[in-house]
Amino acid sequence: MIFSYERISPLYTIFVPIESTPYLSGREVYYGEFIISFALLDLPKIQKEISSLKDNNENLKAMLKENCELYSLGMLLYEDLTTISSNYDLSIYQSYNYRREQYTGIQEAIKSYLIQGIMPNDSNFYSLITQNGVPKIEANFCRPDEFGFGEEGICINYSIHDVASMIAFDLMNVLDYGIQIKQCANCSRFFIPDKRSDEIYCNRIYRNGKTCKELGYSLKIAGDPFKAAFTKARKTQHARIRYNKHIKDYKEKHYEPWLQAATQARDEYKSANNIEGFKNWIEEHKNAF
Ligand SMILES: [Zn+2]
Repeated sequence: MIFSYERISPLYTIFVPIESTPYLSGREVYYGEFIISFALLDLPKIQKEISSLKDNNENLKAMLKENCELYSLGMLLYEDLTTISSNYDLSIYQSYNYRREQYTGIQEAIKSYLIQGIMPNDSNFYSLITQNGVPKIEANFCRPDEFGFGEEGICINYSIHDVASMIAFDLMNVLDYGIQIKQCANCSRFFIPDKRSDEIYCNRIYRNGKTCKELGYSLKIAGDPFKAAFTKARKTQHARIRYNKHIKDYKEKHYEPWLQAATQARDEYKSANNIEGFKNWIEEHKNAF
């Protein structure tokens, strides 16, 4: 896998061959995406599927693509396994077994880092890094216009052919740039919050074409009957502003006092855990302001 990265933005541009042409296209991958995608891999499932592939490389490629959230990680796994297979004259299944402990070790170390903020120093990933066991990064100078990046300048392209090196490289960038990686409060998968650092849901499709972020708010409400009743009543009261456009300052005179009283009532009834009482309050006060 060959990629370049611009030091002004936190992403790699990965060069992907365009099928049946001599050309390459660039695929942008943000720092942290390799780590996240690798942490989410179902390694036992991949091992099982490899055992039924009968060494067909095209099927291996398709299967890895299917099982990796990040396309480029799938392609790198493919490169890693097929290189071992041809270097040591092993079947793909034997190549996977050759790597199995390393992959599991990296995954455990990454998960531990993402969840607890600690990289266990007895993991094999830790030894790969600290004992210089991951030397396989090549750097080459390159004219950027070969890849359509403008007319002038020199850039560096990197080549990485094994998973451990790419994970170490990505981890280094995540640490250097302070990239935040969180666990989604709905689906538990890791994600990079895009703007708001207090975001707790990811942007993956979860159910019925809706993302965790879209579902998150309604899920939170469903678990809180006080919030659900309050939101329903607030929508009704808010709609009245539109119907009463002809009344001057309707919002300030009627809606806002209701909102203030209803918020207070919600908090009081909630601390008394009296949902029926709160529903009665809403009914009794619907025309009170
Ligand atoms: Zn999610």
